[in-house]
Amino acid sequence: MNNSIKTKTKKLFINGEWTEAFSGKTYDVLNPATNKVVATVAYGSTEETRLAIKAANDAFPKWAVLTAKERAVYLTKLYELMLKEKESLAKLITLEMGKPIKEARGEIELAAEYLLWNAEEGKRIYGESIPSSSPSKRLQVLKQPIGPVGAITPWNFPVSMLTRKLGPALAAGCTFVIKPASKTPSSAIRLFELIEQVKFPKGVLNLVIGSSKHIGNEMMENPAIKKITFTGSTAVGKKLIEESSQQVKKVSMELGGHAPFIVFEDANLEEAAEGVIISKYRNSGQTCICLNRLYVQKSVKDRFEILLTEKVNSLKIGDGIEESTEVGPLVDEEAIKKVEYQVEDALEKGGVLLTGGKRRNANELFFEPTLISNASPDMEISYEETFGPVAPIYTFESEEEVIEAANKTDYGLAAYFYTNDLGRSIRVAEKLEYGIVGVNDATPTVVQAPFGGVKQSGLGREGGHQGVEEYLETKYISIKF
Ligand code: ADP
Repeated sequence: MNNSIKTKTKKLFINGEWTEAFSGKTYDVLNPATNKVVATVAYGSTEETRLAIKAANDAFPKWAVLTAKERAVYLTKLYELMLKEKESLAKLITLEMGKPIKEARGEIELAAEYLLWNAEEGKRIYGESIPSSSPSKRLQVLKQPIGPVGAITPWNFPVSMLTRKLGPALAAGCTFVIKPASKTPSSAIRLFELIEQVKFPKGVLNLVIGSSKHIGNEMMENPAIKKITFTGSTAVGKKLIEESSQQVKKVSMELGGHAPFIVFEDANLEEAAEGVIISKYRNSGQTCICLNRLYVQKSVKDRFEILLTEKVNSLKIGDGIEESTEVGPLVDEEAIKKVEYQVEDALEKGGVLLTGGKRRNANELFFEPTLISNASPDMEISYEETFGPVAPIYTFESEEEVIEAANKTDYGLAAYFYTNDLGRSIRVAEKLEYGIVGVNDATPTVVQAPFGGVKQSGLGREGGHQGVEEYLETKYISIKF
C-alpha cells in the first residue's frame, strides 16, 4: 500500500481535478482497531458540491449520448483496474472501518462485479412498441437516463455501496456526484484515483467529502440533480425523502433492517448454525441485512444453542488487518455504547447470556461475539437495529406463530429461514414481508439479483435489471402520420 496516505491530504475530485476544500479545512480519519490516524482528508461543503453538480450537469448530455457499448468500455476498464488494485483498496477499507481483511477483499470483488454486470446490462435497456388504436398512429416507449445523480453512501460497505450506485447510473447514461460516509473517505478516494486512470470524460464522476448536512442539502436543493440514491439509516432516509418532496426528486432508499433468522426443527442444524455465524458476525454485525432476531423451534432449541455457542466461542477477534481475524472492532464509541446498552437491557429483562456480553478490553472498540437466550419482544434488541455482534434467541412452537413474530416490525429488508421441508420453504418464503428472503442461504446478495426492502426499509432496488431501471425515465411517444 502507498504509505503516502498517512501524510498527504486527500482531496475532493471535481470535474476531473483534485481539489482542496475551499475553506482549507481537513479532518483525520481514525482506525477503529488502533485509534491511529489513517488519513487526513479535505472537508468540503456547499460550494464544492455546487461545483461538482455543475460539472455533472455539463457532462450529462455528452455522456448520455454515447452508445451503451461505449459507456461499457469505461466501466469494464474500471472493473479490471479495481481487481488489479484489490489489495490496496481492501487494506484501506480495513484500516478505515475495521472489517477483517478477507471480508474487505470479498467486498472489492463484489464491488467490481457491480461495474461489469451493469456495463453489460446497459446494453439491454429496451423500450417498447405498443399496439396502436389507429392505423395512422405509432405508440412508442423510450427509456432515457434520468439525469445527474446525487449519491450518499454509508461506512459499512464503503466501496461496494458506491459501485452498486455508480455502475447502473453510468451504464444508464447518468452522471454522478457522490458523498461517501465521513468515516470512510480513503477507499472512495482510492477508487477515484482509479477512475482518473480510466479517463472518464471530465465531470461524469465527482467526489465530494465533508459536511453531510451541507452536501446533502445542496444535492436536494440544486435543481440539476434529478435523482437521489441513498444507503444508510432509516432516520436519515426519512429526512431525505421529506426534503426530496420540494422538487419531487426521484429517490432510491436502501435503509435499515431487522432481519429474522428462523431455524425449524427439520433443518440441517449444522448448516443453520454456520448460517447464523455468517449472517450475524460478518462485519461484526454491522450490515443492514444482518440477523437481528434468531428464532429457534422449541424441540431443537437446546441442541442448537450448544452447537452455536461452540461456534461463536471459536471466532477470533482482533485487528482486521491480521489475516486470521474473523471479528474486527465496531466502528466507533457510539456504536459500541448502543450494543452495550442493548445487552444490558436484554439481561435485565430476563435474557440469559450464553457467551460474550462485553467489550474485550476497556477503551477499545472490540465487542465479544454474544449470544443471549430467552429473548422476548419487550427488549430493545427485539425492535431496534443492533449493528453489532449480538444475537438474541427466541423460541417458537408453530410455523404460523413464528411468521407472525418475524413480520412484527416496521422494517422489511432481509429474512432467513432454514428447513428441509419443501412445502414449508414455499409457504414461509411467500408469507415473510421482506424484500429479500434467504432459504437455507445466509448470503443471498449477488449483483444480478434485486436487493432492497419493503416497509420502512426503503424504496427501489439495487442490482439486477431492476437496479438499472432506477436510473431511467419512461417516455411515451405517440406519432400520428
Ligand atoms: P450510517 O450509520 O450507516 O452511516 P447514516 O444514515 O448516519 O448511516 O449515514 C449514511 C450516510 O448519510 C453517510 O454518508 C452520512 O454522512 C450521511 N448523512 C447523515 N446525515 C445526513 C443528512 N442529514 N443529510 C445528508 N446525508 C446525511
